[in-house]
Amino acid sequence: MALYKTANSFFQEQFGQKVYKLALDGGFTCPNRDGTVGVGGCIFCSAGGSGDFAEKPCGDVAIQLARAKARVAGKMHGNAYIAYFQSFTNTYASVDRLRAIFQPVLEDPSIVGLSIATRPDCLPPETIALISELNKIKPVMVELGLQTIHEETARLIRRGYPLSTYDKAMADLGKIGVHIITHIILGLPGETP
Ligand code: SF4
Repeated sequence: MALYKTANSFFQEQFGQKVYKLALDGGFTCPNRDGTVGVGGCIFCSAGGSGDFAEKPCGDVAIQLARAKARVAGKMHGNAYIAYFQSFTNTYASVDRLRAIFQPVLEDPSIVGLSIATRPDCLPPETIALISELNKIKPVMVELGLQTIHEETARLIRRGYPLSTYDKAMADLGKIGVHIITHIILGLPGETP
């Protein structure tokens, strides 16, 4: 028996069909890179904000969506996608800017859900309220970069927030009923199986 459910089978259950994630870049930055929390970023982060397979920002998310769809067209059966804002910290902006980016994407009939990768220290109440509102239009998933529960390792990788911040974000997101995906890194230095 499998020890965990794959994302693929989870999405299949949720949406009743195979869906593809289209990795997008909303043109954000990150507080762990712009000096608000830190400047160097997490030690594993790339110049593309851990979104190296995402579409390149071009000022128009609709164009990115079209390009991303074209990229998977050869292996695609059906027409159902999750718009995945992957690069950098995708809630690191005002609610007005976030709404202007996310809402038009949800109006695309082929987009069945929205996935937002972010840091748990970038989820103030007004952003949680916006996510709750969007989740009533189509399912929203929030992807949190936790990487490790251990504070010592978190310092080593320069994550820039304590575990309690993640716990609070989990509680806040849990209240609005969105799906939460936690990113972890297995095998970080000093951690046991
Ligand atoms: S939080 Fe994400 S975007 Fe920011 S430095 Fe870390 S990995 Fe990079």
